[in-house]
Amino acid sequence: SRQIQLKSRPAGMPEPDNFQFVEVPLPEPAEGEFIVENKWISVDPYMRGRMKEGASYVEPFGIGEAMEGGCVGVVLESRNEKFPVGCHVLGNSGWRDTWISDGERIVQVDASSTPLSCFLSILGMTGMTAYAGLLEIGELKDGDNVFVSAASGAVGSIVCQIAKLKGCRVVGSAGSREKIEWLKEYAGVDEAFNYHDTSDVSSTLKDHFPDGIDVYFDNVGGDHLAGAIDNMRDFGRIVCCGMISGYNDEKPKPGPANLFKIIGKRVKMQGFIVRDHESLREKFLTDMNHWIDEGMITWEESVTEGLENAPEAFMALFNGDKKMGKALVKL
Ligand code: NDP
Repeated sequence: SRQIQLKSRPAGMPEPDNFQFVEVPLPEPAEGEFIVENKWISVDPYMRGRMKEGASYVEPFGIGEAMEGGCVGVVLESRNEKFPVGCHVLGNSGWRDTWISDGERIVQVDASSTPLSCFLSILGMTGMTAYAGLLEIGELKDGDNVFVSAASGAVGSIVCQIAKLKGCRVVGSAGSREKIEWLKEYAGVDEAFNYHDTSDVSSTLKDHFPDGIDVYFDNVGGDHLAGAIDNMRDFGRIVCCGMISGYNDEKPKPGPANLFKIIGKRVKMQGFIVRDHESLREKFLTDMNHWIDEGMITWEESVTEGLENAPEAFMALFNGDKKMGKALVKL
């Protein structure tokens, strides 16, 4: 099996030298086990947290061990009748080409009418994060004014479109002109701005939301969060999904100096982790499949070819890359 291991823990931005490409022998599957050949693997910002020592909300990756993450593949060889040869599976042993499963923490997926990559994007963890975060944590209501940061990314692009489907006014921020154009043209947001073009996110938000923000879906933290707090309406909701602007900080930056404003404005600010919202999965899949079938939602996948290029695809998440939508590696 060829795999990408964590070679060393990054100091600041991850670098190629933090990863190593290694070939290890794959044992024969024991009774109840089967071999999976990965077809697609997911690279995600939360993996940066797992490269650090100590607690994030998932266990850290071990040095000299294969990294992990979402993957979809096909069963190559099987000694488990529930997972016959040729069936497609969704698991969490990405960053390698083949691996052995004992059937735990892995599910079969029906690839007959759905492209495999969708199980890692629109119908997978990121689609579900958008859905649960916006509707459950954000308590979205018709007509709300919604601000989304990292709006052209995997989660953000879906959040924007669900909010539009629910009759909201949506403004997104992203890091390039192409992303802003995509947001307006394809995701259908009302307005979008490039945060590199402003030194004052708060006043830019004031221009876009003269009546204030009801729901801020935060993927970025930092000045985006502070700017949103300045512009929240009374009883608004801040969905703390991620704070990518700080993931590579060696020393955490101080929190927003205007946090006290959430008291007077009675703002609810809540973090969440998608895995706690499994009870929504059936409803998510029904709604999302309906929106897809009716052409009401669109999604992008930014595909990197080859396992050996997975570190590059991962690092690009933090590098002001050109990628739109879900970052995936095709094997
Ligand atoms: P994205 O596809 O959005 O990729 C990350 C994007 O973040 C980049 O493309 C980049 O776009 C933007 N970005 C990177 N650095 C900065 C920065 N310093 N300031 C502003 N924007 C930046 O990733 P995901 O959709 O997978 O994840 C989005 C967020 O959601 C992340 O914070 C992630 O940790 C979080 N998340 C949380 C989950 C949960 O359960 N709570 C589950 C999944 C994701 P740009 O060019 O616009 O800067």
